[in-house]
Amino acid sequence: MKVGIRVKYAVTVSSGVVEDACIIVEGSKIKYVGAEELAPECDKVYEYEHGVAIPGLVNMHNHLFQNLLKNWGIDLELLDWLSTAIWPVVPKLTREEMRIGALLGIAENVRSGATTIVDMHYGNPHFDVVADAMVEAGIRGFISRGFYEIEARKELRERLDRVLENMDDLYEEYKGKVGIMPGPMHPCFVSNESLVELHRWAKDRGTKYYTHLAESERDVQLLVRREGLRDAELMHKLGILDRDFIGVHSVNLTPREVSLMGQARATAVHCPLSNLYVADGIAPIVALKRVGANISMATDGAASNGKLDMFAEMKVATVLQKVAAGDVTAFKAEDALEAATLGGARALGLEDEIGSLEEGKEADIVVLDMGSLAGTLSHDPVGYVVYSASPEDVRLVMSKGRVLYEDGHFKTIDVRAVLRRARELGIGK
Ligand SMILES: [Zn+2]
Repeated sequence: MKVGIRVKYAVTVSSGVVEDACIIVEGSKIKYVGAEELAPECDKVYEYEHGVAIPGLVNMHNHLFQNLLKNWGIDLELLDWLSTAIWPVVPKLTREEMRIGALLGIAENVRSGATTIVDMHYGNPHFDVVADAMVEAGIRGFISRGFYEIEARKELRERLDRVLENMDDLYEEYKGKVGIMPGPMHPCFVSNESLVELHRWAKDRGTKYYTHLAESERDVQLLVRREGLRDAELMHKLGILDRDFIGVHSVNLTPREVSLMGQARATAVHCPLSNLYVADGIAPIVALKRVGANISMATDGAASNGKLDMFAEMKVATVLQKVAAGDVTAFKAEDALEAATLGGARALGLEDEIGSLEEGKEADIVVLDMGSLAGTLSHDPVGYVVYSASPEDVRLVMSKGRVLYEDGHFKTIDVRAVLRRARELGIGK
């Protein structure tokens, strides 16, 4: 069956904006993107007079369980917040609580146009619950298997052999369904030997390597005390910093570390609101991009942000980099949208499959309503997406050709039941 999506603008990301466009989807693939009058016949058509279609957004960093802990320990510095608010609660979360948290987080992501989600899960063994929720919800899911070995609270620490065994099990069980990759929590929380072993595991299976990198200066200093090296310096020395390396946050990097990231063609995951929320600093995104690092975007977990809203992240990324550089063109709207789509796709090795609206790519498509209160008389579709739009403007979310969300209704998640159960559970009390 051929399904057509007619919109005012199709923002392809890879090849400009098409006005009065039609996107045709067949099965899980995009079959056509172009002028409406040249589009082939369709069996079913979605019509959006003021619609702006964009590629599904790639939210490169989540901790989905944190949707159970919104505003839990507000206005604390990163390490204080982790040790007093988050770490004591995570090990106690039950499977059901984890399931509800994951579905809440996925639903909030979908409503904000994210069709690909990377969840860094840690602190309890319910990885399978998160993976099952991703499959059930129909999103493109990845789990970075979190690992604390040293420094952190005792209940959170694990042994490398058990972690590797668990990663093998998850990798086999979810092959073709949910991507699994290593997730040392921060370089300071895992020994050098284990950091290298995890890298070997990733290389053997062709997965990416994913860690929080240079998040707050305090956690960097924990590593400096141990190694005499900062986060990216250690990754480089251990031979881990390469094209398959994903450094979440990448805030407190020295100019030398920025160069190392660039030379390696590594990925930085920019989470501007989270970085501001816990006062980590401003990530050197412009410098990283200039030296050749790949830039992607994310919300981080809801407990160090307040909400999962990729539109807000894109806007804050641009305005923050503009003011930091004193240059209004430092990180433009199109740069933020590129990072939130193709940048994420590249990070995950999926640039031939997702990240842009192109014939032959997977049908991960989001339609926004520029006829909304926020969008009416917006004169630039890319400007609208980054500077004016919010999740309220999202009309349609499609992943792999399947509709996940349409006009306020979730098609794969019973959100009312999830919200009711979340209130009954009342986590954190
Ligand atoms: Zn994080």
